[in-house]
Amino acid sequence: MQSTSLMGLCVHDNNQTREKFQSDLPRQSSEQEASLPEPSKLQAATATLGHGASSSRFPYEGHIEFDEPVKDLLEEARCSWSFDVMQLQSASKGQALTALALTFFKDMGLVEALHLHPGKLKNFLGHMERGYINNPYHNSIHTALVLQSLHMLMTHGKVLASFDEASQPLILLTSYIAAIIHDFGHMGVNNNFLIHSMDELALLHNDHSPNENHHLAAAFKVLFHPRCNFMEQLPPEVVRLIRKLVISMVLKTDMSLHFATISSFKSLIRSRRFMEDGKVLPDAVDLVLQMLLKAADLTHTTIASSHHLCWVARLEEEMFRQGDREQRVGMPISPLMDRSQPGMSASQVGFFELVIIPLYEGLTYAFEDVNVMLNAAKDNHRLWVQGNQSVIAQQVAQLRASIPPTTHWSP
Ligand SMILES: [Zn+2]
Repeated sequence: MQSTSLMGLCVHDNNQTREKFQSDLPRQSSEQEASLPEPSKLQAATATLGHGASSSRFPYEGHIEFDEPVKDLLEEARCSWSFDVMQLQSASKGQALTALALTFFKDMGLVEALHLHPGKLKNFLGHMERGYINNPYHNSIHTALVLQSLHMLMTHGKVLASFDEASQPLILLTSYIAAIIHDFGHMGVNNNFLIHSMDELALLHNDHSPNENHHLAAAFKVLFHPRCNFMEQLPPEVVRLIRKLVISMVLKTDMSLHFATISSFKSLIRSRRFMEDGKVLPDAVDLVLQMLLKAADLTHTTIASSHHLCWVARLEEEMFRQGDREQRVGMPISPLMDRSQPGMSASQVGFFELVIIPLYEGLTYAFEDVNVMLNAAKDNHRLWVQGNQSVIAQQVAQLRASIPPTTHWSP
């Protein structure tokens, strides 16, 4: 993170700054809006912004009202380390992500504190939610759970209080945006598949984290659309810094970078560059935020075992579908993706011991209230070590059988 940190920036309701900022943005005229290019595969996730964008395509602005069962679940989401996001998805008729985001933005006073545009925020959230493909695992429900977990880390995990007070609204905004967009437009296949099949996304991003680069590029395209740019009143230097942090957070969700990130974080917390007087130092902000998103992204390992098994089944099914695809196109089937062999649910013990426990241990060492997640991860680890494996395998298989086929949104 550069020295001009969030801590050094303040938000002005300043017309001059606003006008300058607006002129800096790649704004589109109404003619340009009406002739946005035809969605290609690369643009599939942002296709709702395509031809003929009109107010009827933005149904979220100004009127979102949730009924009592949804309100009760949102109340629970504010304080649960093991939230049943599936129940919220069902009760809200597929709007768990939007419902949670609006709740947290409101609770934390971000709209008022940062002069965000509430209607454009709703537009943005609606486009994000609809731009997620209904993959078994990488879908808007997973993202809603990641957002809820990040909120818990910040509030009940007391991580937000570890940042300089003046920067807290921007830290929170940055974190929420990163969570909301972090798997946007995920195609249900991993980076290896994209790279080895020379997919358009791999070609575009030169084989560097094609999934994560795609999520960012597609989501920022939506965010900066005039109808969705809820940050338009923020000074441009603040928006640039938020964008820089969000990019670094989402890129570090690429699991091929996991061990390097954990190692960097452990070195950081052992050094004098981490905290002073109980506050995270400016140069450490970037890495701390990266770790928080990673911890939230893997939160399915820290929730009640019954919910955890649901997500394991979903991930296993998504991996099998990739294996099916590899077989169809004549590629070698990737490890743990062959439907005729044991899947990733059979390798959970090693995954917890090598990946999950060290992640939450590192974070708990830095922020002790995160130990709730660590303890829950250890409970789930025990399930995989001590549980009856054939019974668990049967449960996972049953859960997998109920996952609907993947359908792609078409404009
Ligand atoms: Zn994710």
